[in-house]
Amino acid sequence: MRIGFGYDSHRFAEGRRLVLGGIEFPGETGLAGHSDADVLIHAIVDALLGAAALGDIGSHFPDTDPQWKDVDSTELLAAVTREVRAAGYRIGNVDATVICERPKLRPCIELIRERLASVMSVGKGRVSVKGKTNEKMDDVGAGVGISVHAVCLLEEARI
Ligand code: MG
Repeated sequence: MRIGFGYDSHRFAEGRRLVLGGIEFPGETGLAGHSDADVLIHAIVDALLGAAALGDIGSHFPDTDPQWKDVDSTELLAAVTREVRAAGYRIGNVDATVICERPKLRPCIELIRERLASVMSVGKGRVSVKGKTNEKMDDVGAGVGISVHAVCLLEEARI
């Protein structure tokens, strides 16, 4: 088994859609970014790549490449899932913590888990997403943006 850790953060930006875990939050302020700025998926992608020692999201999908402008991050997660499988691993589980003052994630957690599990082609029971506030501390607590920590376990598929 191999463990991976991923972290990402994005600032809120007016005039952008908010997408977390492939789910859109209508009416909420979105995040700045080259892609759709899905900070949750980006952290998970880095956890998966890290576990397989396959680099990081920036090396796979450079934000200087117009190909990835406004890309749907579920496409990135699907591509990385394929790459991890091709390297001989299967996804054991993914666990992520989303830190923000808003939006409230709880009502959408099940939907997000289902979406992420579907994109990674694993059972929903292998995907955990938790939402927390930062208790008004620091920039995330002041509502400047959203940060996400994610871990995953990969299992060698041929054992
Ligand atoms: Mg990012």
